[in-house]
Amino acid sequence: MDNISLSVIVPAYNEEENIKRITDRLSDLLENQMSYEIIFVDDGSKDGTWNFIEEEAKARPRVRGVRFSRNFGKEAAIFAGLSEALGSCAVVIDSDLQHPPEKILEMYKLWQSGYEVIECVKTDRGEESGLHRIMANGFYKIMSSFTKIDMKNASDFKLLDRKAIDALLSMPERNMFFRALSSWIGFKTCRVRFEVAERESGASKWSTSKLVEYALNNIASFSGLPLQGITFLGGISLIASVIFWIISVCCGVSGSSAGLYVILAAIFTVGGFIMVGMGFIGYYLNKVYEGIKCRPRYLVEEKCNAEKADK
Ligand code: UDP
Ligand code: MG
Repeated sequence: MDNISLSVIVPAYNEEENIKRITDRLSDLLENQMSYEIIFVDDGSKDGTWNFIEEEAKARPRVRGVRFSRNFGKEAAIFAGLSEALGSCAVVIDSDLQHPPEKILEMYKLWQSGYEVIECVKTDRGEESGLHRIMANGFYKIMSSFTKIDMKNASDFKLLDRKAIDALLSMPERNMFFRALSSWIGFKTCRVRFEVAERESGASKWSTSKLVEYALNNIASFSGLPLQGITFLGGISLIASVIFWIISVCCGVSGSSAGLYVILAAIFTVGGFIMVGMGFIGYYLNKVYEGIKCRPRYLVEEKCNAEKADK
């Protein structure tokens, strides 16, 4: 095949009704526009998703498929797609057509004009049940405060230049959080707004318990703050102990019984020191955690006059 300029990565988990639909939409849209490939990553689907992917791959040479041995989650599917991609840039899109494929052309044009990371930002979360909406909003609020990245309207619908793809793939850490990491890497970034469409078929693949697991996983991979929360509690306990010591002394001086306050003061003092101590351990654990993630210290966007240094 000719040199591919755009790889479209489509993670799919139990999406048998949507494979043909999204392939048709993408092919109609991209044909004659650029040289492209569509990479489906079947994230261990239990329905006929893989059969549909194989069928499409047979009928269309631009379609490829990767099938996981079990459900590893959307993040893993995205990274598998990125490492398979041959394009000069790649776009990640949901298979349920909630991400309007037409936006790809707009993103592609921005990429041609020099942008390297083009993020699609939601203007609306579309059709979702009340509870799911509350869960999702709460989840993104917590995530944003821990990761320091605006997660509320962020989506995985992004176009990345080859440089950005290689930067992401160069990170050896196990727990990849695509949405946050693709912002973390930097590069020339711009944002495009899009309206979340209704799901074409099937239901959201995120159960509430999966969402909570996703949140905990990603907070842990992007923030060491919870490890140090215990220091804060230790501090409060020590302050309480000081108050109880003062009350005990006052009671002692005024001649009334100070027994209860002395016991409380002792408990809070010991508890406070233990918690602060654990907080210190947490601090070092966080350093070790940062270390084993082995993220690069920096990423170089470009160099000028670099050939002089080579001589
Ligand atoms: N997905 C996946 N693995 C999973 C869950 C979801 O590959 O374990 C895919 C799914 O097939 C879809 C995309 O990720 O293409 C978004 O999933 P979904 O529509 O369920 O999420 P929502 O739109 O509700 O955030
Ligand atoms: Mg969806």
